[in-house]
Amino acid sequence: MSVERRQPTGLVWHELFMWHDTSALAGFVKSGRGVIEPDEAAEKPATKRRMKNLLDVAGLSEYLIPIKVRAATDAELTLVHAPAYVETIKSMSARDGGDASLGAVGGDTPFGPGGFDIAAMAAGGIFEAVDAILEGRVDNAYALVRPPGHHAERGHGFGFCIFNNCALAARYIQHRHGLDRVAIVDWDVHHGNGAEHIFWDDPTVLTISIHQDGLYPPGSGAMSARGGGGGAGYNINVPLPPGSGAGAYLAVIERIVVPALRHFAPHFIVVACGFDAGAYDPMARMMLHPDAFRAMTRQILHAAGALCGGRVLFAHEGGYHTLTVPFHGLAVIEELSGRNGSVADAFTPIIAAMPYQDLQPHQDAIIQKLQSAIAESLGNKPHRTKT
Ligand code: ZN
Repeated sequence: MSVERRQPTGLVWHELFMWHDTSALAGFVKSGRGVIEPDEAAEKPATKRRMKNLLDVAGLSEYLIPIKVRAATDAELTLVHAPAYVETIKSMSARDGGDASLGAVGGDTPFGPGGFDIAAMAAGGIFEAVDAILEGRVDNAYALVRPPGHHAERGHGFGFCIFNNCALAARYIQHRHGLDRVAIVDWDVHHGNGAEHIFWDDPTVLTISIHQDGLYPPGSGAMSARGGGGGAGYNINVPLPPGSGAGAYLAVIERIVVPALRHFAPHFIVVACGFDAGAYDPMARMMLHPDAFRAMTRQILHAAGALCGGRVLFAHEGGYHTLTVPFHGLAVIEELSGRNGSVADAFTPIIAAMPYQDLQPHQDAIIQKLQSAIAESLGNKPHRTKT
């Protein structure tokens, strides 16, 4: 079941997002340590700018409602982040920039002068998208923002992420709009550690992360990490083996994500939308193609239509292959806006023809194991839709 389409899809975009400066990195490590020759950072403007350009060239942008961007206030940022952390980023930003990871090993997150303002604009743009959805000005929205957010912790940045955009969206939905339950579905190929920790003992935010097993952050994202205290059961990790394709991902959405959403009955769904599970991504080893992202989006839209009036916000996270990320993004936004087929898809025919796209037995076994674990842990919890 899906809701009848009444309004267009919103798009959060601002050129300043592309000016977020990660140039202190070579790939994903800092250069200049004597052995790493300087190179382009993995998290760079090109993938996102090319995605926006493709939306324009495909003629899709003219059907999207531009969401006006504003800076998130300090009070809003501290809905999730420690006040001291917000102040630290602000003062680094006022000087020469710095590293938002504050020394967390393996999480280099450099930013240039003014980086605080850009990160605050990304969060503020997302808040504006939430407002537009909940005020009925748009049906749903895509936030094409930088920096990404899903690795950011309460007290420090991590893995290219300064402020946790999706976690902030969840708290903003609760505090500004008074909605009780928000679900975050994270299909970036890396584990959504930030939301897991921020909402660990919180039963009002369901966090689901689908990621390549053991990829990043190291040691993070185990199936057994299910939340604690009052939030026990409301964190779900789906660690998939490298080489997972469309069959595995669609099975996860159908057999794990949608049933968990149905049980939780969210008032709003936020999707942490990374495209680094794409087949050519340099930072991971999965096999998705644009049509897979399209089908996953369709499944989420159907669930949102049935459960929360179609209220869903997609926020851009990772995705590092400049040629294919724009097509993954186009497929998602075509599906969100109900305007499929704007341009020929250059990559699905190539990637879908690769062997092992179908659900493989070893992937199925992991999904089955997780289904059993979830059924057991949620068996004694009330079904939200019945209360
Ligand atoms: Zn990622």
